[in-house]
Amino acid sequence: MLHSSFIELNKAAYKQNIQFLRERFGPDVTFSSVIKGNAYGHGIENILPMAEAEGIRHFSVFSADEALKALNARSRDSELMIMGMIDDDELAWAVEHDISFYVFEIGRLQAAAEAAKRIGKPARIHIELETGMYRTGFNREELQQALDFLADEKEQFIIEGICTHFAGAESVTNYLRIKNQMKAFSKLHRMVVKSGLPYRMCHTACSAAAIRYPKTRMDMVRIGIAQYGMWPNRETYLFDVVERNGDELSENPLRRVISWKSRVMSIKSVPANRFIGYGTSYLTNTETKVATVPVGYTHGFSRNLSNLGRVLIEGKRVPVIGVVNMNMMMVDVNGIEGVQKGSEVIIIGEKNGIDMTVASFSELTNMLNYETLARLPEKIPRFVV
Ligand SMILES: *Cc1c(COP(=O)(O)O)cnc(C)c1O
Repeated sequence: MLHSSFIELNKAAYKQNIQFLRERFGPDVTFSSVIKGNAYGHGIENILPMAEAEGIRHFSVFSADEALKALNARSRDSELMIMGMIDDDELAWAVEHDISFYVFEIGRLQAAAEAAKRIGKPARIHIELETGMYRTGFNREELQQALDFLADEKEQFIIEGICTHFAGAESVTNYLRIKNQMKAFSKLHRMVVKSGLPYRMCHTACSAAAIRYPKTRMDMVRIGIAQYGMWPNRETYLFDVVERNGDELSENPLRRVISWKSRVMSIKSVPANRFIGYGTSYLTNTETKVATVPVGYTHGFSRNLSNLGRVLIEGKRVPVIGVVNMNMMMVDVNGIEGVQKGSEVIIIGEKNGIDMTVASFSELTNMLNYETLARLPEKIPRFVV
């Protein structure tokens, strides 16, 4: 079956990102590749082998279903870690396959101990600490309870990690909150040390924290957005430019891995003074050449980009006119030489030095890079180039 659009993943770009980030974080820090949200829209089954080829042996997912996908995609003995959702009745499966998971409730700890007993194998856990994000994590009292429980059930557990997550390390407006979280982490971490229970590593940093707050790197960093060649936000990019003593125009060390392309489905000439598409949001001023592109909001091209978005055709940025439909959109190709049915349409990507970035359209709609990527449907075919 042919699809109306496709995604290309650039292996060389991925390699460059990993090299840059590894060099930045140093050789003693384990690199965990965060592949939740279908690897930020890139596809778990595409990214995981690329990462393994770069020597990455640790992967972080959100939930048990993503862990299953990763388990099927890995070809080395890579470690898998679930940072969020797993049902109590899935714990035995995780233990069986040596998949580690976060614990942030006593209930999960008890269920994990039971699963471990049943399987006859210890559960690999990460103790998540509440340091000020107030999402998940043990506070001081709960941590004491958890440590007491772990002391009683030593044989059932391997403590892989002590961890937390920062509430917005990409923005300097959160500086104080992040610093307070770092302090809170040290305090709670001291309780774990005092308990005498052995553990393997501490990990707290996402991309932004690892770049902006080197102390947060500890034993392992959990890197999502940056490995795909995007900065968490513009501010983090500028921070890094200053760190490198570069200027804003010096070469960006991260390269986008993803491109998203389609083809012109049809072209027509519309007279002046006609509304294009549904409703009355776009009126032609003059006779207008209109190209239809078979990509719409069902494919992840937001309806908020109606009369606002841009795509690249024949090396030119052309505007979306009228509202984005479920399966298609119209663009104004007036004066664009050579455009015809079947012409390449670049939604994300680069041609002849003109770049359509993910940020360029996420900024238009107030959607973060993260959200734009994660919305790309799984059914769009993906090719590694
Ligand atoms: C998503 C996530 C990360 C990775 O975040 P990036 O900003 O994409 O690097 C790290 N840790 C946790 C707990 C996460 O949920």
